[in-house]
Amino acid sequence: MLEINNLSAGIENKKIINNVNLKIKKGEFHVIMGKNGTGKSTLGNILTGKENYIIDNGTITFKGNDITTLSPEERACKGMFMSFQYPVSIPGVNSMHFLRTAVNSIRKHQNKDEIAPADFIKEFKDKLNLLGLDDDFSKRGVNDGFSGGEKKRFEIIQMLMLNPDLVILDETDSGLDIDALKIVADGINSFRTKDKSFILITHYHRIVQYLSPDYVHVMLNGTIVKSGQEQLAIDLETKGYDWLIK
Ligand code: ADP
Ligand code: MG
Repeated sequence: MLEINNLSAGIENKKIINNVNLKIKKGEFHVIMGKNGTGKSTLGNILTGKENYIIDNGTITFKGNDITTLSPEERACKGMFMSFQYPVSIPGVNSMHFLRTAVNSIRKHQNKDEIAPADFIKEFKDKLNLLGLDDDFSKRGVNDGFSGGEKKRFEIIQMLMLNPDLVILDETDSGLDIDALKIVADGINSFRTKDKSFILITHYHRIVQYLSPDYVHVMLNGTIVKSGQEQLAIDLETKGYDWLIK
């Protein structure tokens, strides 16, 4: 699904990602943990093609093709999705129209007809309800006045509607109460198949425990310093990161 080889990148005058290597097969679930400011979100941004980052070295291969120079929308059409750590509000842009436009853009790329409006509305409302949001959210602006937890739920709804193959979830658990955390984890799990791959960035085992990941990686100073399984997430919560720095 994804192969990152010797990736070093940053912004002007600042190196952030430092020789990252990561291979993700179809169906695998990877977790990335690591101190604040260590480059986790930057890695997600670079994978999805956010502008203004400079790639000094390395390649990103997605489903067998080098995508290093593709735009975010081209990557999205090819099946990448990222939920943001800090979702942006877009007042005046209706959430349902926003998502229908995005779904249809991807369908167009796949040479499929536009989804029938009635089918879209039904599916969107089903997903809203699955994530515990009522139908009124379909009338609101994108993230406009949403609480922190509602924004994170809406990110998962976008994932479900856009149906990507590679999902990058950046601290989707942060700010969620205990019930919402379970709802979001169930939403993620409902989307898992043997063909879909995931990268979840988080600080906490409390979400990892619901997701039974294949791998847990620790990123420090822009590089992956240790990889393990779920136990590594538990160890980090009890021991912190210092033992890995030494
Ligand atoms: P993490 O997600 O691991 O907490 P980030 O990837 O957000 O860390 O940030 C890594 C470092 O890169 C931080 O010091 C951050 O301030 C810096 N950084 C990221 N993007 C930019 C940018 N566009 N301009 C300036 N600094 C940036
Ligand atoms: Mg971050």
